[in-house]
Amino acid sequence: MNSEEGYKKACGIFPGGVSSPVRAYKAVGGHPVVIRKGSGAYVTDLDGREYIDFVLSFGPLILGHADPDVLAAITDTASRGLSFGALSEPEILLGEAVTRAIPGLERIRFVNSGTEAAMSALRLARAFTGRTRIVKFAGGYHGHSDALLVKAGSGGATFGIPTSAGVPDAVVHDTIVLPYNDTEALRDLFRREGKTVAALILEPVAGNMGVVPPDEEFLMAARDVTQENGALLIADEVITGFRLTYGAAQVLFGMEPDLTLLGKIIGGGMPVGAYGGREDIMRMIAPEGPVYQAGTLSGNPVAMAAGLATLVKLRTPALYSLLEEKARILAEEISRAAQQVGLPLQINRMGSMMTLFFSDRKVTDLASAEHSDVRLFSLFHQEARNEGLLLPPSQFEALFLSTCHDDRVVSEAAARFRRALEKTR
Ligand code: PLP
Repeated sequence: MNSEEGYKKACGIFPGGVSSPVRAYKAVGGHPVVIRKGSGAYVTDLDGREYIDFVLSFGPLILGHADPDVLAAITDTASRGLSFGALSEPEILLGEAVTRAIPGLERIRFVNSGTEAAMSALRLARAFTGRTRIVKFAGGYHGHSDALLVKAGSGGATFGIPTSAGVPDAVVHDTIVLPYNDTEALRDLFRREGKTVAALILEPVAGNMGVVPPDEEFLMAARDVTQENGALLIADEVITGFRLTYGAAQVLFGMEPDLTLLGKIIGGGMPVGAYGGREDIMRMIAPEGPVYQAGTLSGNPVAMAAGLATLVKLRTPALYSLLEEKARILAEEISRAAQQVGLPLQINRMGSMMTLFFSDRKVTDLASAEHSDVRLFSLFHQEARNEGLLLPPSQFEALFLSTCHDDRVVSEAAARFRRALEKTR
């Protein structure tokens, strides 16, 4: 089967030919890549074409594809059984590693996806506070549970669907949406209605309207207003957890949330999510408390082992500064090339995650992100693909680097980005 045949077949099986919408390349045109294999910084499609991969499964693969130690942990654990529906050793060890790495995680529960983590944390926050309203930010994506699917960035921003069909009005009635980085709007809302809010949920570094770093004042205000009003602060670190430092991005900003959501990297490429935080809140979860939340495959030993092997490798001193350096060099090269070619480009970057916004304006929130020239982005995406660069097929997603994106890969990638930009012009 070649890529075209594979995609054609997939279209007769899956809606849009894919198992998750952004993979469909609807925003950039052409048929999506159909992958045969991945190794290190590279993936190969069904036609045998090799790409330098900056999608990296939308974030989890910080060690690149098919890391030998992660694979060994998976095969070793799998050889002793795939799932037990019972407590297992890898689950305890990963739980211990994660809670040790993030100071505020006094208790944690594993689930199977970031969506589940966010949905469960919301239920918990509502039960704990006895309130129903939640506050999120435009362009913040916290998975696809009903209450959070309002102005949710990512696929929604790509397709221009701020709220999904099939979500009852009553469910989102209690979801308040504010602009990201707008400290005044945040303070104002809490001044007026703070005592009705169960939780404020945010990505410490936004990744789903493209990468948008936070104003530190904004994050501090998020902590202050929730604390003053008895609402919980939920940090969604599904992308940022173990991406920017060993632990959570909240530590970098000195923000101490009540609950934290994790996923992606802590599963090492296997399906995992987690939520955790203050013990007095987490004690509300069944079987200790009245908030029900469960999962047949939660804490799956094979997934736990993959996550644990990943975290063990991430503890290497200097690993994050190396990632930072590679990403900085790449961003500088791309920026220089765009300037020379005369294309408007804003690069937002935090550590090894970045977005190239085709815009002449600084991007600080969803509205400024949406000012980008998506037509230009889609031309660029096609040229980048022709050059052998696999990029997220949406203007509103993050590019990621892995530890396999070494000097040689970054230098080759920079040359390919330059050629793609020249052809886009
Ligand atoms: N939260 C954030 C910040 C995310 O980026 C995502 C997914 O991209 C999710 C939650 C949902 O995670 P999942 O796709 O594992 O359900």
